Amino acid sequence: MRKKIVAGNWKMNTTLEQAIMLASEIDSKLAESKKNNDDVTVILFPPFPFIHDVADVINPDKIGVGSQNIANHPEGAFTGEVSAKMIASIQGVDDTIIGHSERRAYYGETSEILAQKIELALENNLDVVFCCGEKLEEREANKHFEVIKSQLSETILKLSAAQMQHIVIAYEPVWAIGTGKTASTEQAQEVHAFIRNLLKENFDAALADSVSILYGGSCKPSNAQALFSQPDIDGGLIGGASLKADDFIKIIEAY
Ligand code: PEP
Repeated sequence: MRKKIVAGNWKMNTTLEQAIMLASEIDSKLAESKKNNDDVTVILFPPFPFIHDVADVINPDKIGVGSQNIANHPEGAFTGEVSAKMIASIQGVDDTIIGHSERRAYYGETSEILAQKIELALENNLDVVFCCGEKLEEREANKHFEVIKSQLSETILKLSAAQMQHIVIAYEPVWAIGTGKTASTEQAQEVHAFIRNLLKENFDAALADSVSILYGGSCKPSNAQALFSQPDIDGGLIGGASLKADDFIKIIEAY
């Protein structure tokens, strides 16, 4: 059985005080939730400087914590960068996002850079939420399958089967991120099934069946249940709605 995951990407939002408040609120509301959410893995991705404090206020048995990015170098003279080793040295922090479309678009992160980051994350025992997804013009030109195939072929499909046990894939159509436009359940399911089939072709059916594939892009309480009920959608990577504890909890409860 693959994991069901609801992850919150806080991006460059919150102050230290707000981050602690938001994490504490999510932690207590999850504990008080009347639904049984025990089979849902919840992970928070706060901004770098607040990761330690967030990890400190949540119940680690219920909520995981990770970074939104890591450097593509192990250590040294890279002013302003944060290494996989640094993140892994924080108690209770076991995950990192790699390849978010905002990193690809605004910071020029190529597949080559992302492959280096994935190697470093895995070497430091961090699990990776690897993002892929097409831009609007690529979807309109019917190139979305091609784009996703190359984003995955150049990165995670080069890993070993053992390394793949530490990868979660997030399909995030760029046109749906922060725009309020969600992919329809059919559009999302179609791409998730395509990704799972790529895993099957490159590895085998058992591995393809074991990798969680999350949907991301304007996921909110009103559409989470329909998305999560699709056979190949194993949860969500949530941006905007993860900044409101009530909405985030409702999305977790949608399972
Ligand atoms: C994201 O940035 O990963 C994301 C899914 O954002 P939003 O939910 O705000 O569209």
